[in-house]
Amino acid sequence: MEADNNYKETIDTSEEWDRNDQCDPPIPNIVSSNEAGIPSEIYEGQIFHNKEDLQAAINGWSISQNVEYINSTSNKSRLTILCSQYNNVHRVCSWRLHASRSKRLGGLWKVSTVGPPHSCTQPVMLGGHHNCTSKFICRHIMPIIKQQLDMKPKEVIARIESKFEMKISYMKAWDARRKAIESIFGSYEESYRSLLRFMEAIRLTQPGTVYGGSRFKALFWAFGPSISGWQYCRPVLSLDGTFLLGKYRGTLLVAVGIDGNGGLFPLAFAIVESESNESWVWFLKNLHDLVDVVKLRQNLCIIYDKHPGLVRGCREIFPNAVHRHCLRHLRENYKKFLRRKAIPDVEGLCINMYLAGSTDDIVNFTRMMNHIKNVKQEAYDWLIERDVSKWSLLFDNGCRYSIMTTNASECFNGVLKRARGLPIQGLVMSIYYNLVSLFVRRSADVEKWLVSGESEFVPRTMDTLQRTEREARRCPQPITINRGEFEVVDSSCRPHRVEIPSHQNCTCTCKRPQLYHVPCVHVITVAGYRRWNHNPFVSQYFTLNSYRETYSGLFHVLPPKGVWPNFCEVQGIIPLLAPAFRRRAGRPRTNRFRNTMDEPNSTGNKRCGHCKQNGHNRATCPNNPGSSRYKTYLNDDYFTTMC
Ligand SMILES: [Zn+2]
Ligand SMILES: [Zn+2]
Ligand SMILES: [Zn+2]
Repeated sequence: MEADNNYKETIDTSEEWDRNDQCDPPIPNIVSSNEAGIPSEIYEGQIFHNKEDLQAAINGWSISQNVEYINSTSNKSRLTILCSQYNNVHRVCSWRLHASRSKRLGGLWKVSTVGPPHSCTQPVMLGGHHNCTSKFICRHIMPIIKQQLDMKPKEVIARIESKFEMKISYMKAWDARRKAIESIFGSYEESYRSLLRFMEAIRLTQPGTVYGGSRFKALFWAFGPSISGWQYCRPVLSLDGTFLLGKYRGTLLVAVGIDGNGGLFPLAFAIVESESNESWVWFLKNLHDLVDVVKLRQNLCIIYDKHPGLVRGCREIFPNAVHRHCLRHLRENYKKFLRRKAIPDVEGLCINMYLAGSTDDIVNFTRMMNHIKNVKQEAYDWLIERDVSKWSLLFDNGCRYSIMTTNASECFNGVLKRARGLPIQGLVMSIYYNLVSLFVRRSADVEKWLVSGESEFVPRTMDTLQRTEREARRCPQPITINRGEFEVVDSSCRPHRVEIPSHQNCTCTCKRPQLYHVPCVHVITVAGYRRWNHNPFVSQYFTLNSYRETYSGLFHVLPPKGVWPNFCEVQGIIPLLAPAFRRRAGRPRTNRFRNTMDEPNSTGNKRCGHCKQNGHNRATCPNNPGSSRYKTYLNDDYFTTMC
């Protein structure tokens, strides 16, 4: 909308600007709408840092006064705005405002004329305020989005509604969010270019943090608090990767540990162009060279299933580590094998295989394996070829601390949420904020547990111990064979040999103390009978002290871009090139991280009540503006427009 030219001529004369520029003395308190929020008034002589601040202030004020304005003149040095009712035939409102960039004030913007007061009356706003633009909203949500990158448009709408008592459209909220993210992280190219400066700034402010970047491999990093905390977790790491959205796509690789209470503990990350043997080897090399606690860790166990060729690379880089399969991943591969061989009853065999892998009882294991053998020798051989020690709990020797599965996609969901489409620095920052909140939450938990004084162990272990203690009370008295060896008969009437050579370690022929690193019912029976404390038999990784140490590292506030270290060839802080432009075929369909295991078994024969098509229902209908799927499409558009 443009004001008509005749009117403009009368007010827009250069003399008027220059005269105003000279008569008013500068006012010391400059208004910055970022800090000041919505100004209670706009007055003559008011000074702003720049035009954006000025416009945001006028927008906020107009919205709070329920009046609308239109631009008459808007360029690099001048701004003239009129009330939107300036040409209303019934009731003219002659409110207007001039402001200009003042050379005398070193480029600050000054309001030279404003008034007379609005004489117009606006109807109650229904469709949103004309001056409540996505740019204006962007300014208001930017500080929040910085800390909450997964902020949904719905939340943007709610915030604007509570602040200005005005409802904005979903698309406007989306657009405002996109603008905010772009102005925080810059373009994808710029995000790559200054990436190592950003990482160096992180390294300097978060002690212990390591990173490695190369011109083509992009980035590997691990935050200091994660590195120091992982030493107090079980020596088990699982590896996984997920592809990213955004202009250059790429893949995020992670090494995840498990804390004492079974929570995922992300240790190291890498963003690479694609998931391949080569990029995994690069990841492991960095993990070995940069993260000392992994290199020096005794009895390291690495769980992974990606890229069979990686087994060799892993053995070369970590010669002392043992390799284990994730039971869930193995089951998926097993399923594929059975289908390929057209072996009947795939589901049944998979269940048997899974039970065999996760049982700690040799009787169950033998029964399951015999069943598989009877159904099909080939199905049995496949499992034996995979080496039972690598996939079954029973033959694992305790290396994996009974961690049978890794659901790293859960980790991705937790750590990345909606950050997958962000420029690379946004990804790093989003992971940073998610780890920060993880650390804060879990250290608050452990303080609570310590105060309650219920147990010296984390809740999961405490529950297991209490259950086992109750069971031990029902066991008959053990027979002492010699000073450190006992015979215990449990409720299933099987005799077990318990050996307790010292008060710190114990073994039992039921294998459970060796597998779980927590005493079994037989050991607890013996300890109770001899009046020994059985707590020292529990692995230190399950103590509240270890848990507290795990989350004791401190994150610090990230420095703003202005104070990042400069490029420095010697220190390796070089500009990175964004990888060659690549786009996967088709639209990204979802924000959730799925793998083959997360897929539902059947899509069902649903019929939509909205569009009468098959395969979905009203709530997920792509043609229904109120459905979740429709909104996902909007998300897709968002990613597409950013590309
Ligand atoms: Zn007016
Ligand atoms: Zn036992
Ligand atoms: Zn439908």
